[in-house]
Amino acid sequence: MGARSSAAESVSASGFNAGLDMPRSYYAATAAPFGERPCLFGAASADLLVVGGGATGLSAAYHAARAGLKVAVLEGGRIGWGASGRNGGQMITGLRQSPGQLVARFGRDMARDLFALTVEGRQLMADLIARHGIACDFKDSGHLTAAVRDADLVWMAEEAETLAGVMDYPHCRVIGPADIGDEVASPLYRGGLLDERGAHLHPLNYTLGLAAAAQQAGVRLYEGSPVLSLEDGPGGVRAVTGQGVLTARHAVLACDALINGLDADLAARIMPVASYIAATEPLGERAQALIPKDRAVADTLFSLHYFRLSADRRLLFSGGERYFPHHPRHIARAVMRHLPRVFPQLAGVRAEYGWGGMVSVTTTRLPHFGRRGNLFFAHGYSGEGVILSTLAGKLLAEAACGTIGGFDLFARIAPPKFPGGTRLRMPLYVLGMLWFALKDRLG
Ligand SMILES: Cc1cc2nc3c(=O)[nH]c(=O)nc-3n(C[C@H](O)[C@H](O)[C@H](O)COP(=O)(O)OP(=O)(O)OC[C@H]3O[C@@H](n4cnc5c(N)ncnc54)[C@H](O)[C@@H]3O)c2cc1C
Repeated sequence: MGARSSAAESVSASGFNAGLDMPRSYYAATAAPFGERPCLFGAASADLLVVGGGATGLSAAYHAARAGLKVAVLEGGRIGWGASGRNGGQMITGLRQSPGQLVARFGRDMARDLFALTVEGRQLMADLIARHGIACDFKDSGHLTAAVRDADLVWMAEEAETLAGVMDYPHCRVIGPADIGDEVASPLYRGGLLDERGAHLHPLNYTLGLAAAAQQAGVRLYEGSPVLSLEDGPGGVRAVTGQGVLTARHAVLACDALINGLDADLAARIMPVASYIAATEPLGERAQALIPKDRAVADTLFSLHYFRLSADRRLLFSGGERYFPHHPRHIARAVMRHLPRVFPQLAGVRAEYGWGGMVSVTTTRLPHFGRRGNLFFAHGYSGEGVILSTLAGKLLAEAACGTIGGFDLFARIAPPKFPGGTRLRMPLYVLGMLWFALKDRLG
């Protein structure tokens, strides 16, 4: 066996999940029943081993099993324990670089192909939800990027033009100052860019539904089975967990921000950044007045606010990303401090849940796909991973089955490592982020 890596240190040092306990989140409280899966005990084998039971890993497992492979998923915690069960649920087409930036960087054809894959990813999710009857409050009601500055409306108009003219995506339009009040009842916004094809959903129930569909397709799911070390050699891969060993021809690494010590090279490509969400008490009639058309909303601040309504009429609100490695003692309180700036009319409204999760960010904000020996991986969706994770899973499964089309396209845009090595990358990154956050405050 060749390359060897170990997650044992980070598992014991951080309680495995980057220091955040499984949150008492709104999603966990409203999760569809999903019994515990066994932990891996003893020796087992598969054609494809998937490490990580989030949307990337489950989608890879589902698609590989449907293509005829014998697949096993090893999840360190519970299915949906990572970002896939905690996120804002906002389905945003495209990548974290604007269409104009993609064109400037890769040229029109490649930019169009990359963007088209994300459109396909959105459709893939809608199809999976329909085909497997996944009850996840899927709302096909649009996504709004809310403009904090008048100047934002200028680049938004250019972006809508590039989307329609270059990307063949005529679903976006600029909302001007006169109409923004019909979209979101906030004094903070000057207008926005509306994507009619944006959507939102209950991410944990989507992930659990995907897990059930994978299981129906023949995938074996193991929970409480963190991979402590992974060896790759000419004969295949060998994963060691606390109580078992799994051998397979190939492996998919789908650990995203929680890759920790399992693979030093992949860990060096991403920066884990914490993001926090609060769920208010149910708002009843007041909810609709806030976001009358039930859009998912994210604004243009660097340290952004993002929010939407839940099926039971709560506001799920996020504000104030943190760049330090420790988390607020009272998450809901820390998040709700940012609410009055967006919705002053909600003064006195209580938060009933607050939770956090880790977002993996890359140097270019573009995802990192690739292959090393018998290992395939995709991570680093940089805050726009709801669509990308399901798409990535499909592309990873195709690559493991020998078809490289979309996978190869993403592999060609692999971001470089963070400068400064693992010790310096965090302080350097924190300095950079604080500078941009300060610019937000200074306007
Ligand atoms: C608070 C928050 C809000 C977000 N909001 C949005 C949003 O609104 N829209 C959007 O597009 N994106 C959003 N994102 C990003 C998005 O959630 C992620 O990009 C996406 O869920 C990543 O999916 P994944 O399956 O790759 O990783 P995860 O869902 O994190 O899954 C990785 C899994 O791997 C497991 N694992 C790790 N190491 C091991 C190991 N050694 N052995 C076994 N298992 C292991 C973990 O336990 C975890 O379950 C948000 C993220 C967060 C945290």
